[in-house]
Amino acid sequence: MTVKVAIVGRPNVGKSTLFNRLVGKRLALVDDRPGVTRDRRYADGRLGDLDLTLIDTAGFEDVSDQSLEARMRTQTERALDEADLALFVMDAREGVVPLDRIFADLLRKRDMPVVLIANKAEGRQGDHGVGEAAALGFGEAVPLSAEHGEGMADLFAAVVEAL
Ligand code: GDP
Ligand code: MG
Repeated sequence: MTVKVAIVGRPNVGKSTLFNRLVGKRLALVDDRPGVTRDRRYADGRLGDLDLTLIDTAGFEDVSDQSLEARMRTQTERALDEADLALFVMDAREGVVPLDRIFADLLRKRDMPVVLIANKAEGRQGDHGVGEAAALGFGEAVPLSAEHGEGMADLFAAVVEAL
């Protein structure tokens, strides 16, 4: 079984770093789907013994007359439409910011499993944000360092429990 996973959250929280870590050596298999989904990247990945198809909700490089927030919302909604589970990433060091709440509201409207991740939690600098994240309404956040690969076993356990 392959689980389709959308990685969502506001810019700069580490979504693409997590995507790359879960994809690992398979990055060469990234499907760019030119012209169709500039805002989203797809690749196969693995977490524990789970096979994943990952969807990274990415940048806003394209010129558009939509506001950034509307663009983010649209690409996130499309990724969620395709996914079995959402990885909702926030920044443990910055704590919960208003934009995180917009994503939380959007996820709450859906009947799909959500695993909340407090990223950049290496060291102790993220402790406060990890605690704050629970206020987003998706239970305790999984502390993670996508950059350093810390917390991946806990992430696997949380995903298995959520599915
Ligand atoms: P995105 O916009 O959500 O896709 O975020 P990126 O993956 O592009 O990461 C944004 C910034 O956060 C980059 O400078 C990353 O190197 C950094 N970053 C990502 N994950 C971590 C992490 O676990 N710890 C720290 N300290 N920085 C991270
Ligand atoms: Mg990104």
